[in-house]
Amino acid sequence: MKGFDDIRELYAAQPEARRRKFTAASFSFNMAGGRCETCEGAGAVLVEMVFLADVYVPCETCGGKRYRRDVLDVKIQGFSIADVLELTVEEAMRRFRHQPKLGQALWHLQQVGLGYLRLGQPATTLSGGEAQRLKIARELAAAGKRGGRKCYILDEPTTGLHLEDVRVLIHVLERLVEAGNTVIVIEHHLDLIKRADWVIDLGPEAGAGGGRIVAQGTPEQVAATPGSHTGRFLREVLAEAPVAG
Ligand SMILES: [Zn+2]
Repeated sequence: MKGFDDIRELYAAQPEARRRKFTAASFSFNMAGGRCETCEGAGAVLVEMVFLADVYVPCETCGGKRYRRDVLDVKIQGFSIADVLELTVEEAMRRFRHQPKLGQALWHLQQVGLGYLRLGQPATTLSGGEAQRLKIARELAAAGKRGGRKCYILDEPTTGLHLEDVRVLIHVLERLVEAGNTVIVIEHHLDLIKRADWVIDLGPEAGAGGGRIVAQGTPEQVAATPGSHTGRFLREVLAEAPVAG
């Protein structure tokens, strides 16, 4: 989301940073300058084990903080750049809500149910569902600048989400559709299925037994189709809480 660029600019603008001639680059852990050179900004060093899997241990020089001591001395509201990387998206939102661009980026992340992520968490360690939602957040942030003419294909984006986060995700997908985009979702989550404009039920069973179209139509039409397993469960959730509007 490029949010970290804004955070680094903010730190570089602090009087203490200017006095020490730090730039935004000094607050990067990806390039030499302000980062700890023992661990090259990783906060951990690899210990090669001869007969066992290699292990990472916290860097002794920086204590896992990734930066040089003098860089960590620059603080905003008592927080060093390393402290900020430990914040969750939600916490950072409260702290930086007055920063227009950064506040927007964080808000979009929270809107797709990623408010619990720590800012410093490497993107490579995200789950498949988290990575998809991160991409959705990026699309939403960009969508403000251009009209929606895209087709998004998502593979089980609700995986690992709590019910409340599923609701947030559904709301976000509906916003993408309202903006003129098309969203195709492969999904088992009934709360999401019942909000779809069109459902294609593939079956009759999963895996090798499946592959034929068992039913298609609106959620109500699929729910009324005899022999559709999805329809049977859909009937129950529609009876509990019919879709408003
Ligand atoms: Zn280090």
